Amino acid sequence: MIKSSLYGLTLEQLRNWLPEHGQKKSRASRIWEWLYQERVHDFTGMSDVRQECLDVLSEHFTMNSLSEHVKQESSDGTVKFLLRLQDGNLIETVLMRQKYGLTVCVTTQVGCNIGCSFCASGLIKKSRDLSAGEIVEQIMHVQRHLDAAGQGELVTNVVVMGIGEPFDNFEHMSNFIEVIKDRKGLALAAKRITVSTSGLPDKIKEFADSSLQVNLAISLHAPNNELRTHIMKINRAFPIEQLMDAVDYYLEKTNKRIMFEYILLRDVNDQREHASELAELLSSRKSMVSVNLIPYNPVDEHSQYQRSTEESILGFYDTLKKNNINSTVRMEHGTDIDAACGQLRSKQMKNNAEAKANGKSDVKTDAGRLAMG
Ligand code: SAH
Ligand code: SF4
Repeated sequence: MIKSSLYGLTLEQLRNWLPEHGQKKSRASRIWEWLYQERVHDFTGMSDVRQECLDVLSEHFTMNSLSEHVKQESSDGTVKFLLRLQDGNLIETVLMRQKYGLTVCVTTQVGCNIGCSFCASGLIKKSRDLSAGEIVEQIMHVQRHLDAAGQGELVTNVVVMGIGEPFDNFEHMSNFIEVIKDRKGLALAAKRITVSTSGLPDKIKEFADSSLQVNLAISLHAPNNELRTHIMKINRAFPIEQLMDAVDYYLEKTNKRIMFEYILLRDVNDQREHASELAELLSSRKSMVSVNLIPYNPVDEHSQYQRSTEESILGFYDTLKKNNINSTVRMEHGTDIDAACGQLRSKQMKNNAEAKANGKSDVKTDAGRLAMG
């Protein structure tokens, strides 16, 4: 039987769970300290918690729903982890070193149903949502990697930008954020957590209404419906007008800024006229938005797209700037280790397929079970 992860419970949920199973509510805080401050690897490490309590916990929960399958370290300090779930599926988690801290990028689903035309995730349909515990454990896995190095480094930032559409797994994503924000746990500041969505309007509104209050990023990638539908088929169901309606609701409700992500695809959406159109679209919200320009990481299966030239990237940036739209060009991390979304998994999948074809499949995964992002 696959047990759920103890890391999926908020402190409140653990406090309620314990008395329901004959244990004292007051033990919850100490258990949390063992999980998030001492960062023990299993129940036996919780040395001052009564054995009876540990028995009942371990009967219902695991603390190890992930195991490391592959780890790749880049010369710029980026580390990419290919992690195996209890059911054999593989997911990716990335650690990036940035000026302002250590950022972890987490996966929320095994595969993705949104199927954007440029993304490795879209290649395989979602087979399931990750539980809150499986998302929290990705952070713990990276934190333990840092602990093992003995430099006292801590994960300081989290971006929900790995495989999957977080707003298509809203409840688990929300629980995950509650857990990592908790002051008695990892105590990550809300302003250091960013959730990225392909733009589901109702969920953006629900997010605005929630108590989560972390940063929102929206993958826009085009300034008009025709082009956006061509790049992201989700735009057919939720066109830009509906998305902007949800954006305005969010801005009004939270008074927090939104970051729009815009992948630059050569000769598709990267010309100055696209930048002018984008500036026009955002003009009434100028003070509350910024644009993050993302150099495209080529994906073999999407050979119709190429990375923009440096000249186009600068031209696009310059046009936004002239129109007073705040923008940045995303720094790349770990290009020498396939750190771009989905690439390590993609490669691993191909290797497995080749190994199978050659009759030497020693890795237990196949294309259908490998998460893409
Ligand atoms: N599903 C969510 C979050 C995961 S994707 C979303 O779409 O926002 C996170 C970011 O990675 C998105 O902005 C996405 O557009 C970007 N991305 C996906 N594939 C990419 C690629 N090949 N090169 C560069 N960015 C990519
Ligand atoms: Fe899914 Fe995001 Fe990739 Fe689109 S860009 S297929 S929404 S992971």
